[in-house]
Amino acid sequence: MSTTEQRVAIVTGAARGIGAATAVRLAAEGRAVAVLDLDEAACKETVEKITAAGGRALAVGCDVSDEAQVEAAVARIVDELGAPTILVNNAGVLRDNLLFKMSASDWDTVMNVHLRGAFLMSRAAQKHMVDAGFGRIVNLSSSSALGNRGQVNYAAAKAGMQGFTKTLAKELGKFGITANAVAPGFIATEMTKVTGERLGMGFEDFKAAAATQIPVQRVGEPEDIANAVAFFTGDAAGFVSGQVLYVAGGPLN
Ligand code: NAP
Repeated sequence: MSTTEQRVAIVTGAARGIGAATAVRLAAEGRAVAVLDLDEAACKETVEKITAAGGRALAVGCDVSDEAQVEAAVARIVDELGAPTILVNNAGVLRDNLLFKMSASDWDTVMNVHLRGAFLMSRAAQKHMVDAGFGRIVNLSSSSALGNRGQVNYAAAKAGMQGFTKTLAKELGKFGITANAVAPGFIATEMTKVTGERLGMGFEDFKAAAATQIPVQRVGEPEDIANAVAFFTGDAAGFVSGQVLYVAGGPLN
């Protein structure tokens, strides 16, 4: 890459939460960022934050679990921003329930968004990384990968993301591509707010209760995860691959 060429990053699920913070952070690092989410209009706020700070960004509407939409979205990003060499598979959903009450459709939705979504996006983006001889893939796992009551679907998907990451690292390393996973603990976003509501707790009470269980005595913010993703996507991290970094305010048992 010439020194004047700008790397293009795709961040999925970037309309809000961790994805939005990551898109803004990667733009601050000088990347042109495709802000991808289900609803293109919902990406406007993240895109405006980036452009207001002098960056380049493109809003892209796409369901990551839909093969045709993923292929079309990546083709559009290549045309309008340039060939992507950084991919952050962050889009995610929860469909929590105890096993005996979980529907097959709630199982499938979680598998499709996290695992099928990361697979389709990585497959579509990797050819551009191979052509460039450089690539950075970061997958969002979770502390729930270690097991979490009421999340049999999500825990399986997030553990699956770790195996997926390690295999990408092995297959793609020879093309200058690294793959790593970031596994957040409790991060204050819409996702955890909804979980609190489901448990009958206001968000402030829910966060305060969670903080007492975390060694640093606070819950995480989306920027805490964006910082970790920024490290893995950097040019300087080329010898770090196939790793899972828990970002949870302390070690997990
Ligand atoms: P969030 O606030 O719910 O944001 C997730 C985003 O992903 C939403 O904008 C959502 O769009 C989008 N999305 C959902 N399905 C999609 C699809 N099929 N295609 C494209 N976009 C889709 O969640 P978050 O807390 O920022 O979480 C981000 C990632 O971190 C997820 O993978 C999550 O599992 C992981 N994580 C979060 C935490 C936490 O404590 N927050 C902890 C561990 C791991 P809609 O709004 O339209 O649904």
